[in-house]
Amino acid sequence: MYPIGRVNDIFEKTYPFAWLGILAEAAPSWEELIYANHENGFALFSMRSPKITRLYLQCRPDEDLSKWSDDRVWENLEKRLSFPGDKAIQRGKILQKSVTTMRSFVVEPMRYGRLFLAGDAAHVVPPTGAKGMNLAVGDVWLLAQALATFYAKGHTDLLESYSDRCLRRVWKAQRFSWWMTSLLHRFDQNDAFEYRRQLAELDYLTTSRAAATVLAENYVGLPWHS
Ligand SMILES: Cc1cc2nc3c(=O)[nH]c(=O)nc-3n(C[C@H](O)[C@H](O)[C@H](O)COP(=O)(O)OP(=O)(O)OC[C@H]3O[C@@H](n4cnc5c(N)ncnc54)[C@H](O)[C@@H]3O)c2cc1C
Repeated sequence: MYPIGRVNDIFEKTYPFAWLGILAEAAPSWEELIYANHENGFALFSMRSPKITRLYLQCRPDEDLSKWSDDRVWENLEKRLSFPGDKAIQRGKILQKSVTTMRSFVVEPMRYGRLFLAGDAAHVVPPTGAKGMNLAVGDVWLLAQALATFYAKGHTDLLESYSDRCLRRVWKAQRFSWWMTSLLHRFDQNDAFEYRRQLAELDYLTTSRAAATVLAENYVGLPWHS
């Protein structure tokens, strides 16, 4: 049995930037998500429905939202997400504006005695890889099976192995989220070498089938038991 009172280990990393996110009443300008590494910072275009878009700009963790008028937000999105010859981004009424700080966090094991942890209570990823909710659902799937087996048959093996089985997947998602974040953001302390390295990696990703397959496998999601 897992000893009650054992101290959990915490692994944590914070990032020197945040995301200024908006929800806008605007039809999506493109059919695909767009991730941009711009000299002014990261930007992301995504959509929620045929009439609602969700967009993000890299900003400072202590960014003062009162200094970001709607026009300033749209101007920065247009600058970071525009491509020569492409159509302009569709503007619309901004329904929500917020700043999300970025961190990586894992607590091990994902239990304390008879208390089992799942989702953000046990691990947080930076949103770049879009893995947070997926990890939470994965945890609950495994925990539900373990609890059902315990109450139906009295077996504790799935409960005992719950944390180890989750953590293998959690750490792979942590690695992927950290990699996406490092690839796409501007770090204040980065020198010209680091920027060239990021560009070379993006070039490799978009020209090598092997590299694109690795990205796709991780982005779509690894198997439950990997
Ligand atoms: C800006 C942003 C974008 C994101 N985008 C994505 C994405 O594209 N894809 C993805 O997979 N993930 C994404 N995530 C991450 C995702 O939202 C979280 O990882 C996920 O919601 C975690 O689920 P959870 O159930 O563990 O926690 P939560 O969704 O936070 O649920 C916890 C619930 O507990 C409630 N609660 C808290 N304290 C108490 C209390 N004392 N008593 C009772 N109830 C309480 C809260 O109100 C909340 O409803 C994003 C997160 C952010 C911030």
